[in-house]
Amino acid sequence: MAVDSVTSSPLGPPATEKDAKVLQFIEETTKNTDAEQERVLSEILSQNAETEYLKRFGLNGATDRDTFKSKIPVVTYEDLQPEIQRIANGDHSPILSSHPISEFLTSSGTSAGERKLMPTIHEELDRRTLLYSLLQPVMNLYVPNLDKGKGLYFLFIKAETKTPGGLVARPVLTSYYKSEHFKTRPYDPYNVYTSPNEAILCSDSFQSMYTQMLCGLLMRKQVLRVGAVFASGLLRAIRFLQLNWQQLADDITTGILNPKITDASIRETMAGILKPDAELAEFITKECEGENWEGIIPRIWPNTKYLDVIVTGAMAQYIPTLDYYSNSLPKACTMYASSECYFGLNLKPMCDPSEVSYTIMPMMGYFEFIPHDPSAPPLSKKSPPRLVELADLEVGKEYELVISTYAGLCRYRVGDILQVTGFHNAAPQFRFVRRKNVLLSIDADKTDEAELQKAIDNATELLREFNTSVVEYTSYADTKTFPGHYVIYWELLVKDSAISAPSHEVLDRCCLAMEESLNSVYRQCRVADNSIGPLEIRVVKSGTFEELMDYAISRGASINQYKAPRCVNFSPIMELLDSRVESVHFSPALPHWTPERRR
Ligand code: AMP
Repeated sequence: MAVDSVTSSPLGPPATEKDAKVLQFIEETTKNTDAEQERVLSEILSQNAETEYLKRFGLNGATDRDTFKSKIPVVTYEDLQPEIQRIANGDHSPILSSHPISEFLTSSGTSAGERKLMPTIHEELDRRTLLYSLLQPVMNLYVPNLDKGKGLYFLFIKAETKTPGGLVARPVLTSYYKSEHFKTRPYDPYNVYTSPNEAILCSDSFQSMYTQMLCGLLMRKQVLRVGAVFASGLLRAIRFLQLNWQQLADDITTGILNPKITDASIRETMAGILKPDAELAEFITKECEGENWEGIIPRIWPNTKYLDVIVTGAMAQYIPTLDYYSNSLPKACTMYASSECYFGLNLKPMCDPSEVSYTIMPMMGYFEFIPHDPSAPPLSKKSPPRLVELADLEVGKEYELVISTYAGLCRYRVGDILQVTGFHNAAPQFRFVRRKNVLLSIDADKTDEAELQKAIDNATELLREFNTSVVEYTSYADTKTFPGHYVIYWELLVKDSAISAPSHEVLDRCCLAMEESLNSVYRQCRVADNSIGPLEIRVVKSGTFEELMDYAISRGASINQYKAPRCVNFSPIMELLDSRVESVHFSPALPHWTPERRR
């Protein structure tokens, strides 16, 4: 029941008094965007005034924007690497932050093949929790009665390591789920999960997923929304159901938990949840045993009102598959966040994915923007970019996001390109355009052109003894297979016909050699998460890339400037390439991966 109009918000009538307060907070913060940003910067700079970093640039305790902008450079991760390495090695002096670095958050963005290490401080957990607390009241504006059931969310923790200096390094969500903020969150009838904490916090991904799926099945009629953080995660859960429904149905028939679930805390919790239910087991068997999985989500969870998954950015490629499994249920993209900083939320979460705009919340950090002009020459250190404030952005323009955080990142380029679509009060709203330099992505992996080139170079070493080289290549993220996988098209040149061409087996090994060269996030997805399938090389006939060029020129490309695209996804081009395939090769084994960093 909506509360009365006295507490009504311009966003809509709040569902509860508590929601009314949250919506009012959003209103006030977004109305005061510029003043909030000034306050945040001043707070960050006074908190960190004594750090080595700010002193090095002669800030002398100044906390105003002009001094900050004139003295502090805009940086990338690589610029900060010496400081980050010192912190990782155990230097406790205030290098970037005056507050102790509590841990490192490992980004899915990589540097030199390894996850970037983002320093964080304890109080940032409060800020992340604050942003999470805004999501449900906004959702309640659009979807009523979410307090009448539960959310089936597939949430996971991942492996963590220690840096040489003893700090924990793990992904931001692992850090959050393991925090007291999450584990002892107060009961909120609008936000009840089917997954017990014990399942979410189990580090064995099979046991975790199995238990979460089992609970989802047991509580199927109570489920009002089904979600994961990213679309790829939800599809992985559906795949898991396809592979494991028989065992799950057996457990439900007998009321006895699969012995593969050995985690004691899960077994204890499930003892109170799992009861024999022959009717339910029969229903699951009937739905899952057929070939047709279209609409499986609403068939099993008939009260699902929406899917809660991010389908913007690289995840947009999964929309057709999600639509297939869900009979096109609405897909809610609720928030935009990163290891460096949580940025903001979607104030219209039930809109179509193509319309999603995120509103950056000005209290989360200090935000600046580099106008992004794809045709402009690259930025040089000599002519620093002109940065624009959060409150001064122009609708329709694209910008690259630069952040300064309480944890000590100063004027740090995140690498995301955003387009302003409008304003909520004085706060701009953004369409996520893309992440810079990402060529291929299936799950959390982000492979850029240089990494792909390096992988090709390493693989072609194996061709040398056959006097064979790769004359051209391109790539494609194939998400039609389960799990998705990288496809690399190769045109080969066998230079010496006296020597036999590389065998099938050699080309298979080239696939593995490529995988071994790809970054650690790719290899983790392959090995630990099983969210990426074996890399595939498709060898195409000699002359195929020339045909590709002819095709591009026929569509208006300039002959002089033509370069073979390093990634393709346009159907006619794919059809041309696929019609010229001579042989197909898959990686015969898993690449090497351990949670430890290679360096
Ligand atoms: P990570 O540091 O691994 O947490 O990755 C953060 C990055 O994921 C962001 O910088 C974005 O590139 C991407 N990302 C996060 N949220 C979204 C979203 N809602 N839509 C599109 N991309 C996102």
